[in-house]
This record gives sequence, structure tokens and C-alpha cells, in this order.
Amino acid sequence: MSIDLKCHDGRFSPAIRFILFGLLSSGLLQMSCGGGMCSEPLVQGDMAITESMLSTVWTNPANSQITLVVTDGPYRISDASIELLKTVLTEQAGLSVNVVDGVETGFSTEQLVSSEVALKGYDIAQDYPRPTMVVLLVDQMEEGTYAASNYCNQGNAGLWDPDPALSVIVMQRRIILQNPFADQVEGMILVHETGHFLEVPARDNHTTLTEPYGRHCTYGHCAMYDGGVNSCSVMNNLGGIPTRYCDACAEELNAMKQIREQGSIGGNTNGNTNSNSGENCTELLNEVSTAAAALNADLSNVDLICTYNHSMEQAFNSGCFSENDILSAGYQSVQEFQNTLTAVDTLYGC
Ligand SMILES: [Zn+2]
Ligand SMILES: [Zn+2]
Repeated sequence: MSIDLKCHDGRFSPAIRFILFGLLSSGLLQMSCGGGMCSEPLVQGDMAITESMLSTVWTNPANSQITLVVTDGPYRISDASIELLKTVLTEQAGLSVNVVDGVETGFSTEQLVSSEVALKGYDIAQDYPRPTMVVLLVDQMEEGTYAASNYCNQGNAGLWDPDPALSVIVMQRRIILQNPFADQVEGMILVHETGHFLEVPARDNHTTLTEPYGRHCTYGHCAMYDGGVNSCSVMNNLGGIPTRYCDACAEELNAMKQIREQGSIGGNTNGNTNSNSGENCTELLNEVSTAAAALNADLSNVDLICTYNHSMEQAFNSGCFSENDILSAGYQSVQEFQNTLTAVDTLYGC
């Protein structure tokens, strides 16, 4: 469930950009990148939409609007980026966006510690209904990526993000500004990180897996393309960069929309409970978030580890996590997740 576009893929000098344009018009490079597919999918051939890992969040009829919390923390993303996201989500995912603007974080321009930045995002999110995305734009953090989102215990900042209806996106301004397409890159990253939140690509026949960055799309003209901004994506986008989802990803977003509109909760084919359903789950998942926030503030506190683990067990036993939630959090199986909960209890004597 996490992150980002590697910065080293994105640096083209203006001269190289010009050369790419020239080659493109000659058609030479298009041939080598035929059909827009630039990397190997996990499985070849067609794969039915019913075999995909469609998110349970976005098939829920209650979730047809996303709250986008735009922070001044310490920078604000541009109006153009916000407009791009609204357009893409409306047209390709049937989702509306409610923008909450100008939320102060109190961070200075020197703020570099990713755990603090991400945790602030989770704090801010507590004030808003799900599904919510909180976007922060900082100078630069430790990671050499354009952005990071959906922080989880497998990756950045030691944070655990158990709520599949919440995404905290942290963008790194200095890395964005190094890109020759800087004016478009910020919007692309917002669309890209939102794609992770929506859990596209969902089907393995256009998904590639780059550890530790997770699932990405094999099509160079997709905002979810694995390489971010590199020669393949530039070639496939006529010298620009991808700012929308490809047809394959859009089809999956549309499938989620169809299920949402039919009013059936769930949507994935494996019969899991919907993590977003029911008052009880909302309450239990809030307890998990609260316990996670407390634990993140003091990671060596055994009482907080046990409180957190118990809240996870309760939510799990009440069916508040779907299999997809668990797998996308980095566990190989539901069993492995359950074993981890038990192991933590044993290890810390909870
Ligand atoms: Zn990504
Ligand atoms: Zn795609």
C-alpha cells in the first residue's frame, strides 16, 4: 500500500526532451514501445474484471465522494493540481471531490522528518468523514521519492495505516522542482497517489510489482505507470507525462462505480466483509487509529503496543478488515496477519 515515483527516473535535460520529441515524430520510438505497454505484467493475457482485487472501499455505495484536505503544510498544492484531480476522478471514476482548503499544519519550511509529517496528516484526518485524502507538500523528507502515501508499518516512518478509507499523501517539493515537467508533475503525482488509494491497477494482467513500492500499471501512458516519469512514459505521452489513468485502470474504476451504483456493498468476489460497513466497524477502526497514533508517538511503550494490538484483534474478529485490506497492508495472507497479532500478544505478554 504505499508510495512512489523514484526521482532518478525523472531527470531529462531540455536537450534530451527535444531529442525524444524528434524521435517520436519519426515513429522510431513508438515501435519499441508498442501499445503503450512498457513493462511485464504479473500475468499475461486477459483477466476478467471479476478476478481482480477491486477495493471494498470504492464499491461501497456510501463512498461516491472523496474529501480532499489541502494543507498549507508548509506549501499548498496548486489549483491546477486540484482541478486535474477533480476532472480525472469525475470522468474516469465517477467520484466527486469535496475540497477542504487551507488547513494549517504549523510546519516550517525546514520540516524534514517524515514520521512527524505523516502523523500530522493522520491527526488532521480525524476531523473529516471518510473517505478522505490529506495532502501535505513539504520541501523534502528522507525518502528520495516524489511522494509517499498510505504509510504503513511495512514502509515509511514506522506508521501503521489500518484505515483503507484514509490516505495521507506527502509530496516532496524539491524533487518535483528538479523535473523538467515540474508544472505537470505535481498534478500527476496527486492523481498517481490517489490511484493507490483507489487500488488500481487491480488486475494482474496490467500490474507490475516493484518492491517496496507496490502495485503499478504496465502502461506507459498511465498515471499509475511503474517507472513514473521516464523515457517510456514520455514516449507514450507525446513528450509530456501521463496525467490520467489508462483504459485498463479506468475500466476497473468504472467497474467499482457500477457496483456502487447498483447499491451492493462489497463488490469483490471473495465474500469478505466490507471494512467500511456498519457503525460497529467505524467505531472499532477509530479505536485502531487512536491506538496507532498513540503508539506512533511512543513506539517503545509496551502498554501502547498491547492496546494497539488488542484494538486490531477486535476489529479483525468483528470482520472489519477485508482480505484485500490485509493483503494490501503487506501481509501474504489473512493467516499471516492473524499469526502476527497472536505473536505480538505472546512477545509482549499482553
Ligand atoms: Zn506509486
Ligand atoms: Zn493503468
